[in-house]
Amino acid sequence: MDEVDKIRSEINLVDERILEALANRRKLAEQIIQAKEVAGSPIRDFSREERLLADLIAKGRGQGLDAHLVTRVFHEIIDDSIRSQQLHLLDYGKTGPNRVAFQGIEGAYSELAGRKHFAPYLDQTVFTGVDTLEQVVNSVEDGDVDYGLLPVETTTAGSINEVYDLLSVAQLSIVGEEVLRVEHCLLAIDDVPLANIRQIYSHPQALAECMKFVAKLPNCQAMPYADSAMAVKKVRDGQDLNAAAIASEEAGKLYGLKVLRRNIEDQQNNFTRFLILARKPSAVDLRIPCKTSLIMATSHEEGSLLRALSLLHEYKINLTKLESRPIPGMPFQYIFYIDFEGNTAEARIGEAIEKLRSATTSLKVLGSYPAQHRAKTSPRVEILASGAPETGAEAPEQPAGKKEKIGYKLASRDHKPDDTIIAVRGVRIGGPGFVVIAGPCAVESREQIHKCARYVRECGGQVLRGGCFKPRTSPYSFQGLGFEGLQMLAEAGREYDLPIVTEVLSPADVEPVARYADILQIGARNMQNFSLLSEAGRSNRPVLLKRGMMSTMDEFLNAAEYILDRGNHQVILCERGIRTFETATRNTLDLGSIPILKRLTHLPILVDPSHAAGKRELVIPLALAAHAVGPHGLIVEMHPEPEKALSDGPQALHFSEFADLMRRIYQS
Ligand code: PEP
Ligand code: MN
Repeated sequence: MDEVDKIRSEINLVDERILEALANRRKLAEQIIQAKEVAGSPIRDFSREERLLADLIAKGRGQGLDAHLVTRVFHEIIDDSIRSQQLHLLDYGKTGPNRVAFQGIEGAYSELAGRKHFAPYLDQTVFTGVDTLEQVVNSVEDGDVDYGLLPVETTTAGSINEVYDLLSVAQLSIVGEEVLRVEHCLLAIDDVPLANIRQIYSHPQALAECMKFVAKLPNCQAMPYADSAMAVKKVRDGQDLNAAAIASEEAGKLYGLKVLRRNIEDQQNNFTRFLILARKPSAVDLRIPCKTSLIMATSHEEGSLLRALSLLHEYKINLTKLESRPIPGMPFQYIFYIDFEGNTAEARIGEAIEKLRSATTSLKVLGSYPAQHRAKTSPRVEILASGAPETGAEAPEQPAGKKEKIGYKLASRDHKPDDTIIAVRGVRIGGPGFVVIAGPCAVESREQIHKCARYVRECGGQVLRGGCFKPRTSPYSFQGLGFEGLQMLAEAGREYDLPIVTEVLSPADVEPVARYADILQIGARNMQNFSLLSEAGRSNRPVLLKRGMMSTMDEFLNAAEYILDRGNHQVILCERGIRTFETATRNTLDLGSIPILKRLTHLPILVDPSHAAGKRELVIPLALAAHAVGPHGLIVEMHPEPEKALSDGPQALHFSEFADLMRRIYQS
């Protein structure tokens, strides 16, 4: 046996031990739910989960494991435990046989969703494909099957109207939901070059989700077909080398087609939500977080919808969806579909529904069912940051300022007294929290940005930065890797579960950059580029607007006003130093602007000590000073090898310095 084989067999043994440990853990989850039933305890205890994670992270670190790895692995393990505890409390599906109808043929996305949903009971579940969504409903109503699966919304197209119309007349209850990540493949009978493809068959929905990909293929026609798996079968039966289908990889395997390209969907996060329908509602244990769906109509009078919705507000019910559909035969009158968090078996929800009956002209409760989304407990940033080496620091109290004259409206506290909090993939910027955005000045290579992302995550940084389009003083300096760099940045962000921010230089780039970036940055040099501000104002991505190096606060807030006025209310301001007569620093960090801006505006405010300092050794002192004046966070440049950086190397922190900064910020 050579060395590689020897090590591999050791790895195999370790993997087996991991499996054994997982199986043991699952058995304990089954035991604990019974003990919890006796004790009447809830399934989840978030503070225990947080303590557990903190403890595991500390122990993992002691053994040289990343906090991110430990968090990711235990998120899955904890989620599995919650899922099996919830399954224990649920009745439906358990006492098979389960007959399930879906639209399409074997390999269709609906069938995949069904398999995922009934995964614990697959041996007693039979799936039947039917031609139309209406037939799915009919076969449940007629008792031919026990459950029906209907796709109800997709992340690209939004609601599927036909399903809402069917739900309004069907005599059925919703007993479950399932969310499927839809990853489309281009499939053909052989490994042909993409340029040879002339026809692409698929369900219109799948074609719409890959519209940009299809449009790029020369002389290629999109051919709508009843279902994606049927399209695969059609391509297989046709044996035409110029034809392809868009469907799941599973459908390709099932019908023997080759994958020409994977993940061809235009949006990276492409999900479809399905509902599971049955003839009777299914009671759900109160310990399982539920959603409830209902359909209602309100009288055709002013304020009637508002009255109904305020009732929900009165009972502190959190709406997750509100959809309107025209009532057939009654022009400009609508019925409303509502999803909210809660279970009709709860007294509070029951009461709210009773009151809602008198505030509506019709009301149909479609059912309460376990919510598919299970929140993940995150380790507190203090826990992550405290992994860095020892030293100390303290921060003074915030100074107060005085009111100035204003030349803007929407950005002002008069317009909106409360702090704006911008939520980006679970990270909240603004309000009481403090976030750190970090990363290199510019994305230089896949390896460089992955290293940065991993380290940012490890130290508790919440957002990853990296310039792909660089505004450089000299045209001969490195200009950034453009869209290629953006792909690398997005990939690193996904890998380490960090939202990403990157600068956009021209109005034409706003839309394509926004497809990948979670936050768009408008740099100091472009703070008064009004066409860029307007275009960013039309985007639905948050905008990180940096203060121009020659700008007053009034000009700064008016620049933000451009974005707000065009409809984008998610603006984050960033003080990054201004140009003064002083040359000892790259710019002069105007820390006085922070308390002043905080009084003038509700928008979140960050400080960038890196571009202000221009020199690495000044970054930590300035960052600590900035932290003391009360901004909502920092944006800092760091690099695995600052000496070799292609831009702004002299101001980039080494990783160890970044760790030190994080520990000092979150310890103070
Ligand atoms: C940057 O953040 O990389 C940048 C170019 O910043 P500024 O626009 O503040 O100079
Ligand atoms: Mn820079």
